[in-house]
Amino acid sequence: MTEFEVIAQYFKRNNKRTDVDLAVGDDCAVTMLKPNQRLAITTDTLVSGTHFLPSISAADLAYKTLAVNLSDLASMGATPAWVSLALTLPKVDHQWLAEFSQSLFAVLDRYHVDLIGGDTTSGPLSLTLTAQGILPKDQGLFRHQAQVGDWIFVSGSLGNSAAGLSLLLNNCKILDESDRYLLQRHLRPTPRIELGLTLRAFSRCAIDISDGLLADLGHILTRSQVGAEIELDNLPLSSHLIAKFSESEAINFALTGGEDYELCFTVADNKRSEMEQILRSQGIKVTCIGRVTPASNGLILLKQGEPVPVPTQVGFDHFSE
Ligand SMILES: [Mg+2]
Repeated sequence: MTEFEVIAQYFKRNNKRTDVDLAVGDDCAVTMLKPNQRLAITTDTLVSGTHFLPSISAADLAYKTLAVNLSDLASMGATPAWVSLALTLPKVDHQWLAEFSQSLFAVLDRYHVDLIGGDTTSGPLSLTLTAQGILPKDQGLFRHQAQVGDWIFVSGSLGNSAAGLSLLLNNCKILDESDRYLLQRHLRPTPRIELGLTLRAFSRCAIDISDGLLADLGHILTRSQVGAEIELDNLPLSSHLIAKFSESEAINFALTGGEDYELCFTVADNKRSEMEQILRSQGIKVTCIGRVTPASNGLILLKQGEPVPVPTQVGFDHFSE
């Protein structure tokens, strides 16, 4: 089977969006933007053994590849629009491709996104996805826009994904509802698209938590040249995480475990209560975990009001030993 046959059989389908002029089938895709719209563009590569366990199912892999990219669009407050996919496959496995593309299109439909191009080659399993989203000209959530006095919020609950991964890596039997929940949060994180869109009206600064809260919050602090005080007792921990791990393990997963794909964002004091009211009405859970402080204060973690040491192993770096 040639590359073109693989694309035609598994990845070519009528586009659903009206802003796609040309998609799969020419040298480039051609899409349309309205005046006063900007493009937000993100790319992520996932390599077998580095970003996912080789045992992952085709459906979970397609989901995750999309979710991590959509999460980046969410963190900018962008509306997802188009993706292109470069897929490197060891061999043409029809059942794998069928499951993969079915799962891929299910997620694309859920977020009203079109696949507009890509590439397939043979080699060790690896995926590179580029996602493009639309931002209004005067809105957006950027890492450099946190301000001293802003409240710091996170969505959902933290640490579940790292806890789920630890169950997998330790070959734990998945026995009860809590195991299944943690594993599911690892395999199927939710890109917080709706939250990102709502935050456009209230926030100027967000990041998605891919490498752990401390590492990703650290990016905001560096880019905004501010410090932060985080109250560890306010970290949102799921009942399933608490059921399975000690308090210190759970907090450690929440601070340094990656791949939760929740949003961490800041909001000015005068916008906080209206934002909380709107998000409550939308059924979106967010938790205030601290406040932005002057850069000279650095990052301070508090437990019952008392400073505690900041864990040294912060976040995941692909080039560290
Ligand atoms: Mg990100």
